Amino acid sequence: MNKPYDLIVVGAGPSGLMTACEAKVAGLNCLVIEKGCIVNSIYHFPTFLKFFSTPELLELGGMPFLTTHDKPTRQEALEYYRRFAGVHDLPIRTYEKVVDIRKPDSEGFEVTTENGNGRPGTYRSARVVLATGVYDQPRTLGVPGEDLPKVSHYYTDAHPFHGKKVLVVGGKNSAAETALELARTGCDVTLSYRGDKFKGIKYWVQPDVENRIKDGAIRAYMGSVLKRIDPRSVTLKLKNGKIKKLENDFVFLLTGYEPNVEFLETAGIKIDPKTLEPALNKHLETNVKGLYVAGCLVAGSDNNRLFIENTRHHGGIIVKHILKQMRRRR
Ligand code: NAP
Repeated sequence: MNKPYDLIVVGAGPSGLMTACEAKVAGLNCLVIEKGCIVNSIYHFPTFLKFFSTPELLELGGMPFLTTHDKPTRQEALEYYRRFAGVHDLPIRTYEKVVDIRKPDSEGFEVTTENGNGRPGTYRSARVVLATGVYDQPRTLGVPGEDLPKVSHYYTDAHPFHGKKVLVVGGKNSAAETALELARTGCDVTLSYRGDKFKGIKYWVQPDVENRIKDGAIRAYMGSVLKRIDPRSVTLKLKNGKIKKLENDFVFLLTGYEPNVEFLETAGIKIDPKTLEPALNKHLETNVKGLYVAGCLVAGSDNNRLFIENTRHHGGIIVKHILKQMRRRR
């Protein structure tokens, strides 16, 4: 057992890093535990992704984010957040997964971890901040064949799919950008979207995808539902109710992401069954005293409400509350 911390932050994404930085500046004894690498979700974004946000909106703690592009690339963001962690000398344990959070007594939390070799670790901390995001948990469809090796809920790079028949499911930004990149790389792309028309795609991406559908570079089935996936085919139910079987090599299910409700509930956090939002007060503290939530996780299953730019101040709110509580106790 290590010595007790004032604060453990779970997740080294932008929100977790900023929370740790605020804690360090405030003189708190803090540790960040991350199951992957620093900004693990961004690392797993599509290789050539360009952020929708401008660089100043991705900045943390006023550290300038410089880019020669109008919008920063994933590569630049990785470099920026690595540098942020380094400049502030943040204490981060990477490749260590938090598997359990308990509050055995009023003194604080017991955080149990496993590292890459399955070796367990236990830490004590007066408070815990969950900044784990939602990107780890894709929204699954529950269709037969979803677990076949040719199916992925994540897209990285079009190159391996050149000349192949690829189905993309979804109708928002990930599906649109992926279908465009695949079509431009010489893939035979079919897009299946349950909606009749696109809504909520970025204003510069939407005409692009609509024009590629018009000119036949992307075959789109609007108002369709994926019914099953087989090794050599996919089956859609079309808007007119007819069943359409298509030859297929690969499938990308880009249907969004959801919080790991089971993990949150095991830690004692109340979750809204409809929105999957954790119960929080204005200090981002959950119904479990001393257990906070920061970052996109606050929005529950709504993937289009909270981003880096409007959650990067969460750490400041939490640390301010912690300091107030500590002063009160003294
Ligand atoms: P999303 O916005 O949540 O969209 C999910 C899509 O899947 C929606 O079209 C949804 O349909 C569909 N869907 C959900 N459940 C379904 C089901 N059971 N069956 C069939 N279809 C289903 O997810 P996303 O596009 O991956 O975007 C996630 C976040 O990443 C967003 O904040 C987005 O802006 C961001 N993003 C950023 C970039 C970038 O910075 N370059 C690129 C891509 C995404 P409905 O439309 O009917 O709800």
